[in-house]
Amino acid sequence: MNNSKSTLQRKRVNILKILVTGGAGFIGSHTVVELLDRGDQVVIVDDLSNSHLKVVDRIEKITGKRPDFFLANICDFSAMEKVFKQYDFDFVIHFAGSKAVGESVEKPLLYYRNNLESTWVLIELMAKYNVKSIIFSSSATVYGQPDAVPIIETSPYSPTNPYGETKMINELFLKDVTAAYPDISVICLRYFNPIGAHESGIIGEDPQGIPNNLMPFITQVAIGIREELFVFGNNFDTHDGTGVRDYIHVVDLAKGHLAAVDYLKANPDASFLIINLGTGRGYSVLDLVKTFSEVTGIEIPYRITERRAGDIATCYADVSLAKDLLGWEAKFDLKRMCKDSWRWQSQNPKGYCGNCSQKE
Ligand code: UDP
Repeated sequence: MNNSKSTLQRKRVNILKILVTGGAGFIGSHTVVELLDRGDQVVIVDDLSNSHLKVVDRIEKITGKRPDFFLANICDFSAMEKVFKQYDFDFVIHFAGSKAVGESVEKPLLYYRNNLESTWVLIELMAKYNVKSIIFSSSATVYGQPDAVPIIETSPYSPTNPYGETKMINELFLKDVTAAYPDISVICLRYFNPIGAHESGIIGEDPQGIPNNLMPFITQVAIGIREELFVFGNNFDTHDGTGVRDYIHVVDLAKGHLAAVDYLKANPDASFLIINLGTGRGYSVLDLVKTFSEVTGIEIPYRITERRAGDIATCYADVSLAKDLLGWEAKFDLKRMCKDSWRWQSQNPKGYCGNCSQKE
């Protein structure tokens, strides 16, 4: 056998078959693009409750490859079992879940069911079908009001709403699972504030209704969907009085998942790890508004209002564990995040589907 042929064979052996739950969502779709770009095989399961089938077309447009797609809720054991039976997965990356803080306060049953039962179904099926690795989407929200910044992974849990509580309980559940099933390894990635979009402007964040998060609100003001931004408080103990957060480009975040997959592949005995994914830098609301205006040339009218219930002054990550363990760090700066968020919004003023009601 000549050299190039054996290299080709080796490469084929290294292709990973990865189940991505919630792969049509904001972070999921960007991660699928990165996985496909490097040659991994991806199967998406998504119930499209907060996304569109169009995302799969868009992923294909960017990568030239179409991931297999199944429309199902992850809590549906028999639908999920069919998928596990059909594929011999190497990895699961579990993004699917409900994620609106305010809604979680109003609908705790929905949040506890969607966010906890789904993980339980996945672990049951992983144990049954011998899938040994899972990356779980966690969130900096599990820290609540931090004792100190930058926040390290060993900081105590202190979530302040049902959404954050479901993330915390999932982490505890997964830790218990790894203790009982030594073959299974888990990495929980705690995301800080993902913004930005793929540089093509073809995929991006598409919130339903009035955006809860800052960047989509800013881009909707910029495109003219909303008149002005409401800045929730300017009397925090920060450099300009507005809240400080660790904004991270969604493509950097996506690449953090690839680094986590590679880590688990090289360290199948990793058991259980929790790792922050952020930039390690904090910017205020007004820093973000100013940078957005600088890079786009668009003024963002804003008004200072009352603080939002539960908001904290400052939150940014200690990112040394991600760097040391995964060899990963965020590359894109705030300007790039603003540019890419704006490209997505201006190319897709109404998101994937505007006001269409059916799942297209
Ligand atoms: N924020 C704001 N107006 C908005 C949305 C958010 O002033 O319309 C502020 C919010 O108080 C916080 C920051 O922007 O200081 C980031 O909020 P986001 O909801 O995006 O993230 P999280 O608070 O969950 O970290």
